[in-house]
Amino acid sequence: MAEYDAVIVGAGIVGLSTGYHIKSVNPNLNVLIVDRFGAAGQGSTAKSAAAFRCLFASRTNFALADSSAEFYRHVQDDLGFDLKLRWAGYLWFFDQDGYRKMLPVLKELAGRGFKYVEYDSADLAKKLDMRTDFESDDEAKMMGLGNVHKGVLIPKAGLIDVDLLVKFYESEFLKLGGNIQYHTDVKRLTVEPRQPLGMPGEPYFWQDATVTGLETAKGPIKSKKTIVAAGAWASQLLDPVGIECFIKAKKRQVFSIKAKTTVLSKLLFCKEFTEAGCLPFTILPKPSAYIRPAPEEDALWLAYADEFPRAFIVEDEPEPEENYYTYGLYQVMVKYFPQFTGCQPFSSFAGLYEINSIDGQPLIFEENGVMVAGGASGSGILKADAIGRIAAALYRDEEYAYLHGDKKFKVSDLGLKNRNVEPEKLVI
Ligand SMILES: Cc1cc2nc3c(=O)[nH]c(=O)nc-3n(C[C@H](O)[C@H](O)[C@H](O)COP(=O)(O)OP(=O)(O)OC[C@H]3O[C@@H](n4cnc5c(N)ncnc54)[C@H](O)[C@@H]3O)c2cc1C
Repeated sequence: MAEYDAVIVGAGIVGLSTGYHIKSVNPNLNVLIVDRFGAAGQGSTAKSAAAFRCLFASRTNFALADSSAEFYRHVQDDLGFDLKLRWAGYLWFFDQDGYRKMLPVLKELAGRGFKYVEYDSADLAKKLDMRTDFESDDEAKMMGLGNVHKGVLIPKAGLIDVDLLVKFYESEFLKLGGNIQYHTDVKRLTVEPRQPLGMPGEPYFWQDATVTGLETAKGPIKSKKTIVAAGAWASQLLDPVGIECFIKAKKRQVFSIKAKTTVLSKLLFCKEFTEAGCLPFTILPKPSAYIRPAPEEDALWLAYADEFPRAFIVEDEPEPEENYYTYGLYQVMVKYFPQFTGCQPFSSFAGLYEINSIDGQPLIFEENGVMVAGGASGSGILKADAIGRIAAALYRDEEYAYLHGDKKFKVSDLGLKNRNVEPEKLVI
C-alpha cells in the first residue's frame, strides 16, 4: 500500500489551507486530503457567515486574523483571484455598561495605532432609522435588551466569499500536485506498534505505538503523518484513541431576510459608514445578535450565537429551528430595527461551531503521531490562512511559523503543552 507523507482528514478551510501551505513549502511531498463530502468546504465552512475582522485586543488573535486578511487581500489584488472581499466594516453597538468596560481596551488599541470610529446613539438612530433607547418600552426591558449608547465602527473588516476562498486553496493545492479524495468517510485512526511483533490485538500498552494512517469506508490509507482537521467532528476520531482535543460542537443558525421593502433595502445598502456600498456587519449590544449584510443576494442575514443552555452536540446535519427565529431573533431584532416588522426568513441554515473549550482560540498540536488543527471556535474563516501556516510549520517540526507578511509566530503557542495565548478582551 502506498504511504503518503501526510494525510489530512477534512477538506474544510483549515484542512485545505494546511495542505496548501505544506505543499507550497515542499511540493515534493505526497499529500492527500480526504473528506466524507463530495466537494471541498461542505462542512461548517459552507455554513459560515463569512465575515472577518482584524481588530482584536489579544496579540494571538490579532496575529492570526490580520495576517490572514492581508493574505486574502494579496490573493485578490496581487494574484488576481477574486474572493469578493468587501471591506464593509464591523459596526458594534454598546450599552453604557458595555462601553465603559470596552473603553480602556479601545483606548489601548488606539494607542497601538488601530483605527476605529465612534458614533453616538442619536447619530446611529438617524443614519440607520433604528431605535436606541428602550426606557419607555416595558417589553424590551422585560427582555433585558441593552440600549445603544455608542457604536464603534471597525473599518478593517468585512465580508468574503467563502466558496471562492475554498476554490483558491483547493485549486492551488491541486496545482502543486496535492491529492484529494472526496466521498471518503474516515472510520478511525489506525494505531500500530512502531516495532510490530505480529501478535493478535497489537499494540499492547507496553509497546511504543503511533498513528500510522486511517481506516476509511473505502479501505485503509497509510500515512507518515495524519492530520485531523475535521472541524466539529474532530473528537469522533480522537476520543476513540484517547487523545483529548478540547473541541466541542455547538449549533449556530442563520436566517436570511430578503430586503424586499424600501426600508430594508435602505438598511442593506446603507452607505453611511464605509465605501463598500452596504451596511457593516452589525452587532447589537445585548444580546449580541448580529446582522450580516448579503448585498449580492439582496438579503440581510440574522443570527445569534447562543450559549447556555445550548447543548454541545455533534450533529451531521444540524437544522435551523423555526422558533429560534420567531420567538428569539425576530423579537430582538425588530425592537432595534422596526424595518424587520412582519419579516419571515426566505431561507435559513445551521452549522456547527468547533469550540475550543479551553480558551476559544485555535488548537494546533501533535500527539502520538497525529496532528490536530482546528478549534477556531467560530472564526475559522478569518484565521484560516494563519492556522494553515502554523500547522504546516508544526508538520515540518519547526519552532516558528511565518505568517503572511513574514510575521514570526511561535508554533507551540497554539499547542497544548506550552500554550501561550492571551485572553481576548474584545469579545462579540
Ligand atoms: C453559522 C456560522 C457562522 C459562522 N460565521 C463565521 C464568520 O463570520 N467568520 C469566520 O471566520 N468563521 C465563521 N464561522 C466558523 C467557521 O465556519 C469555522 O470556524 C470554519 O469553517 C472551520 O473550518 P474547519 O475546516 O475547521 O471545519 P469544517 O469546515 O467543518 O471542515 C471539516 C471537514 O472535515 C470533514 N470530516 C469530519 N469528520 C470526517 C470523517 N470522519 N471522515 C471524513 N471527513 C470528515 C467534514 O466533512 C468537513 O468537511 C461560522 C460558523 C457557523 C456555523
